[in-house]
Amino acid sequence: MIQGIAASNGIAIAKAYQLVTPELTYEKKSIDNPNKEVERLEDALGTAKQELEKIREHTRNEMGDEHAEIFSAHLLVLDDPELINPIKDKITNDNIMAETALEETTNMFIDMFKNMDNEYMRERAADIQDVSKRVLAHLLGVIVPSPALIDEEVIVIANDLTPSDTAQLNREFVQGFATDIGGRTSHSAIMARSLEIPAVVGTKKITSNVKQGDMIIVDGIEGNVIVNPSDNELATYKAKQEEFEKQKEEWAKLKDEPTITADKEQVELAANIGTPDDVAGVLANGGEGIGLYRTEFLYMGKNQLPTEDEQYDAYKSVLEQMEDKPVVVRTLDIGGDKELSYLDLPEELNPFLGFRAIRFCLENEHVFRTQLRALLRASVHGNLKIMFPMVATLEEFRQAKGILLDEKQNLNDEGTAVSDGIEVGIMVEIPSTAVTAKQFAKEVDFFSIGTNDLIQYTMAADRMNERVSYLYQPYHPAILNLVSTVIEAAHAENKWVGMCGEMAGDSIAIPALLGLGLDEFSMSATSILPARTQLRGLSKETMTSYKDKLLSMGTTEEVVEFIKEKTE
Ligand code: PEP
Ligand code: MG
Repeated sequence: MIQGIAASNGIAIAKAYQLVTPELTYEKKSIDNPNKEVERLEDALGTAKQELEKIREHTRNEMGDEHAEIFSAHLLVLDDPELINPIKDKITNDNIMAETALEETTNMFIDMFKNMDNEYMRERAADIQDVSKRVLAHLLGVIVPSPALIDEEVIVIANDLTPSDTAQLNREFVQGFATDIGGRTSHSAIMARSLEIPAVVGTKKITSNVKQGDMIIVDGIEGNVIVNPSDNELATYKAKQEEFEKQKEEWAKLKDEPTITADKEQVELAANIGTPDDVAGVLANGGEGIGLYRTEFLYMGKNQLPTEDEQYDAYKSVLEQMEDKPVVVRTLDIGGDKELSYLDLPEELNPFLGFRAIRFCLENEHVFRTQLRALLRASVHGNLKIMFPMVATLEEFRQAKGILLDEKQNLNDEGTAVSDGIEVGIMVEIPSTAVTAKQFAKEVDFFSIGTNDLIQYTMAADRMNERVSYLYQPYHPAILNLVSTVIEAAHAENKWVGMCGEMAGDSIAIPALLGLGLDEFSMSATSILPARTQLRGLSKETMTSYKDKLLSMGTTEEVVEFIKEKTE
């Protein structure tokens, strides 16, 4: 059994699909028939072409034209005689293997384009690199795995899944996944929960312990992976799978019920989403709103910024699907572990402390303004609230809000309708903001506490780093005190407070957060019904009476023991 971190609930049993880039090494040999080498090259080009067409088709169907564009660019490279003919000439003139001719020629073009002072040409270098690897793999008879090529039921095994890998996973076939790295709050884990597929992350060794086609079980409840299970183990986990399905049926009974505690206090249970497609899962799980729409997925897995209209369509779709339920849309939170290759931002030593989110948007106003205009235009289609991420100072909030109001004025002047009731809030995920929440509360309409980041900044423990994960402690009194400070400050100004970090859906945290007075809990869609079940059994009054005691505790262990004892 391989242990990891339980990232998404449920049990999956299927064959392993290794999503690991293969080593493309070969021995250089002399050749005696250059024509045969040219033929091999043509075959490899043909197979690569068919494969890329399939990936492009799949991406277009799953994610739309814009995301498929990158593969069109790759197909153009494959068909470009200015690249292909020199490879063929090299084979015949120098009498060398197709592999060597391919590598030498493409490397020459890559070096040339990479050094040009032109972003477009630098992107072409990246395209040639990708295509050349794919053709080389086919020459060597090695399979290049792609999430888009999966066409049977499998469990995906990878070192890590990038957000664009995860976005390409075919929900119909991918039963679950397991990765070497990552934690509960890494984006692959968050995506697994919104796709509602079982996942275990941070196993450290899954890719080296599992072979392509091995039978595996992913236990996303306990965080274990079983490789080539015995008949007994298989039977045990099939039973566990059935039990989980039954439990889900029980939870489902509360789908249309309000979220009311045992002493009749109401709180809101909302969901975190990444794409408009996730809304169906939110409604199916009884979500009362969207507490966090992570818009960065609109910007990722493609080779240019999304247009205003493209964004407008996505926001409108979410607002319409949610009817008049609240939808909190977070403006672009890029940086940290979420990169945009086409922006060509310089590498940073500490990306989580670097040029990200609102910092990037305030310096790249055109990007920010495009998003704000799309949001403002979409606002007439539902109950929109706008939220700025990673705000560290009041000036940042004022500046961002100023730009928002400026765009609203521009749209009014153009005669475009914009809702007048849009609330504007911030994420509290930096300790400076939590500590000065009183000052912010006078100016913002709401707070949403982003504990995924707030914990890492408060404890100085990188949320992606397994070696310091012991310090990443959601129930630490330091975190509870910051959360309490934010809630008290907001309530004193009659503002509401939500939480959209993973902590909001955690069964140990929920009683404490109820006692601290949290108004809205926003979580992965699949956590909503278990949370509603739990909240119906808790008394808010009793939990509130424990507040001072919880805030004065010294350690996480004391907090956990106390909550367990009081809620059993
Ligand atoms: C957070 O930091 O808690 C949060 C919700 O944002 P993200 O996980 O996208 O950084
Ligand atoms: Mg965050």
